[in-house]
Amino acid sequence: MDFKDKIRVISDFPQPGVRFKDITTLLKDGPAFRAAIDQMAEKIEDKQVDLIVGPEARGFVVGTPLAYALGVGFIPVRKTGKLPAETVEAGYNLEYGKDRLAIHRDAIQPGQRVLIVDDLLATGGTIQATLNLVNQLQADVVGAAFIIELTYLQGREKLPADLDVFTLVQY
Ligand code: 5GP
Repeated sequence: MDFKDKIRVISDFPQPGVRFKDITTLLKDGPAFRAAIDQMAEKIEDKQVDLIVGPEARGFVVGTPLAYALGVGFIPVRKTGKLPAETVEAGYNLEYGKDRLAIHRDAIQPGQRVLIVDDLLATGGTIQATLNLVNQLQADVVGAAFIIELTYLQGREKLPADLDVFTLVQY
């Protein structure tokens, strides 16, 4: 399946000059959504993942069905102030803006095999911060998976060279 046919590109959102990749058109297509999750699951099924970690909000939409498909747990990464129990935090730069992310301190046991999942890899800031969080919890990061990679923003180059990065669609 060509997932690009299912992804809508919106010019000048959320600010002028950005060509936003809108995955809501993929998500509302049941067979396409299922095929995307199944392809991600196939790519990582030999990784012996213990946990999927996904940043809000679209990392939840992609990460939770993937966790369900693999039969493993899902750990949410959220903007600070949203998680109820004790957290660790990391700051990051976005394609457009700055923010801080948090994860529950007891979410991951040291050495657990973790896959980081989000809908899209742009500058890599979100994933760098998520990596920072799981590293603080001494996770064993086995890779990062995305539906979309914006190769022209070179986010992949900011990630550790030995990190396996899986993407279904590249722009
Ligand atoms: P990065 O931190 O890699 O620069 O940006 C990736 C994060 O911003 C992801 O969490 C993603 O959901 C969001 N994002 C940035 N640009 C886009 C886009 O064009 N489409 C979608 N769906 N999300 C984007």
